[in-house]
Amino acid sequence: MSKVALVTGGSRGIGAAISVALKNAGYKVAANYAGNDEAAAAFTKETGIPTYKWSVADYDACAAGIAKVEADLGPVSVLVNNAGITRDAMFHKMTPQQWKEVIDTNLTGVFNMTHPLWSGMRDRKFGRIINISSINGQKGQAGQANYSAAKAGDLGFTKALAQEGARAGITVNAICPGYIATEMVKAIDEKVLAERIIPQIPVGRLGEPEEIARCVVFLASDDAGFVTGSTISANGGQFFV
Ligand code: NDP
Repeated sequence: MSKVALVTGGSRGIGAAISVALKNAGYKVAANYAGNDEAAAAFTKETGIPTYKWSVADYDACAAGIAKVEADLGPVSVLVNNAGITRDAMFHKMTPQQWKEVIDTNLTGVFNMTHPLWSGMRDRKFGRIINISSINGQKGQAGQANYSAAKAGDLGFTKALAQEGARAGITVNAICPGYIATEMVKAIDEKVLAERIIPQIPVGRLGEPEEIARCVVFLASDDAGFVTGSTISANGGQFFV
């Protein structure tokens, strides 16, 4: 029987590529999203993957959303914590609201989604948690103190939870993408991208969402059972840890 995979922020960008790659790998996939109904409807129409709307920043909404997904598709075996936002500002201009929104979605959202699923995965002695962090959580990025803090927090969470899940057959891993060609990155000024960002990437181009999705498919697979607490840096050679 097909395993069920739940991808947060799974209807656009990297998350959409992950949802499709998991479907193609034989999983029953549910894609969560926050508010872009139009994109979600178009995604379901194109791929046949059902979409479910709630905010990962809201614990109760996550618990209710997960219950709905499990009632529709069965117990979730693979959780991809991909939903993320940016609210960039240099720190002297950063507002408490910008700080809070990014932490609530990018870090607390990972807790909110993982916690309601954890007991079921422990009981079934199988689970795959895959957290989409960022190169900017590894190296820090000016103008993104909030985002870098949240994404670095995701890496600490990954390593701690991997130790707790190990004997229960649950692996917990992270992927740190570099610059990937999605709306989040296309929103960056074209001149800044061409003159400042792409020249810093040794492979000389942005990554494609599918290149992150293929890392997820590996980490979700039975073949990756001995890989836990680790981070895949998929950044075109830009930064090594
Ligand atoms: P996009 O902005 O293209 O898509 C973000 C997705 O997350 C959307 O589906 C959005 O839903 C969803 N989302 C946002 N907030 C919430 C929320 N509160 N609850 C549920 N879903 C939410 O982002 P990317 O595809 O570029 O990024 C995906 C992940 O990869 C993020 O975690 C990002 O930080 C990380 N990343 C991206 C990089 C890049 O270069 N693009 C580099 C490194 C990391 P909706 O469609 O409803 O708005």
